[in-house]
Amino acid sequence: MEHRLEAPPVMTSSGPIRSPHQDLWDTVLSQLDDVAQRLNLDPDIHKILRRPERELTVSIPVVMDDGHIEVFTGYRVQHSSARGPCKGGIRYHPEVNLNEVRALAALMTWKCAVVGIPYGGAKGGVQCDPSQMSPDELCRLTRRFTAAIMPILGPRRDIPAPDVNTNPQVMAWIADTVSMLEGKAVMEIVTGKPIPLGGSLGRREATGRGVAIVTSELLKRQNRRLADTTVAVQGYGNVGSFAATILHQMGCKIVAVSDISGGLYNPAGLDIPDINRHVANHPQHLLEGYQAPGVDHITNDELLVSDVDVLIPAALEHQIRADNAPHIRARMIVEGANGPTTREADQILQERGTIVVPDILANAGGVVVSYFEWVQDLQYFFWDEAEVNRNLETIMRRAFAEVWDFCQEHRVPLRLGAYMLAVSRVAEAVRSRGIFP
Ligand code: NAD
Repeated sequence: MEHRLEAPPVMTSSGPIRSPHQDLWDTVLSQLDDVAQRLNLDPDIHKILRRPERELTVSIPVVMDDGHIEVFTGYRVQHSSARGPCKGGIRYHPEVNLNEVRALAALMTWKCAVVGIPYGGAKGGVQCDPSQMSPDELCRLTRRFTAAIMPILGPRRDIPAPDVNTNPQVMAWIADTVSMLEGKAVMEIVTGKPIPLGGSLGRREATGRGVAIVTSELLKRQNRRLADTTVAVQGYGNVGSFAATILHQMGCKIVAVSDISGGLYNPAGLDIPDINRHVANHPQHLLEGYQAPGVDHITNDELLVSDVDVLIPAALEHQIRADNAPHIRARMIVEGANGPTTREADQILQERGTIVVPDILANAGGVVVSYFEWVQDLQYFFWDEAEVNRNLETIMRRAFAEVWDFCQEHRVPLRLGAYMLAVSRVAEAVRSRGIFP
């Protein structure tokens, strides 16, 4: 995931992050095995894709503000560089571990392949509790971690980005550390930077905008008009708030939204601009305390099963599970969050005929605009926001169409089709490059 782009405070809140990734690497591998079987993938290439190309574990000693030293553990995993330099976020969280980072790196490989941008997949993380650290401690941690993984980074090797609990300020520290150590400006080493340091216009809204574009493409395929479509959005952070705002601008009726403080519901449609003003003025940027005529307060559980056409989970992992999946009334789900649906829930939804646009396609808008940031940095030529948005729309629409057509042709659900397409593209790159030496 790439994270929200507001300036400091340094840490952004993703709510209470649980530990959903303990077996995520197993899930990622079994998903790959399923897809390999479906594709009749060459067993030699399958073998290669089951193993990350490179894994680096580092110890990060940091002088804390009181003078004592803490030693943190950090990781950078490059799953595949077959399609281009590796790309993926850096996460700061107490539960970061090697298997989680491996899994997230592989998911980046598939995500970049499914939208057709010239990157492989990577991910990084530091096991730490950023909520218990001062900005100075975080700055020192970031700089030492950067120095430790620098041998495997590079604008043509591996380009990090923000993820859970990291943001543009952290990216600025990474770019500055590499630039100081190399004695020249290397801003293109990382994306998700502040705009004055070479960040891209439109990056902040990109993931939500991509979710909205994908939703409108799905509605077209269903012969549905945007104006006749009701939507519920779970999570009102970076992804959810922009997805809701842009879909509202497109003409959809957003009837339910929620965040960690609870949900709002109005069957006649919520006034999204008014809600955005409330959130902007709330000290923690929450929906909490919002009042308007016709608006009822609902729980997150109620939001998930509300009577809408489209449900957009944009909060955390594993929100749609075997226990609530049978009660979901939306006929279409567009996954704004990473991994919001468990494998069991996915099966239930499939049996019920619910269309699920998978995360690797639906929330790829963020990495697409990260790609634009890197392109602009490498060319020292910056686009206006309209150009960023136009190019994002072209890529998201094309990716959606390719996945949709593939699924129609092979008679498979969107998730399986998106993975099949992604894995076949990576496999083709491995095959045509050949094995060095
Ligand atoms: P964020 O921290 O900005 O927002 C998360 C939102 O979810 C907040 O509004 C929070 O209050 C809410 N939330 C937390 N727990 C909740 C709960 N139990 N019920 C309802 N709402 C809850 O994070 P974000 O950047 O918007 O990321 C959201 C999801 O999207 C994550 O899964 C992330 O991995 C994924 N994602 C983000 C990006 C990106 O560019 N930001 C890109 C790809 C995927």
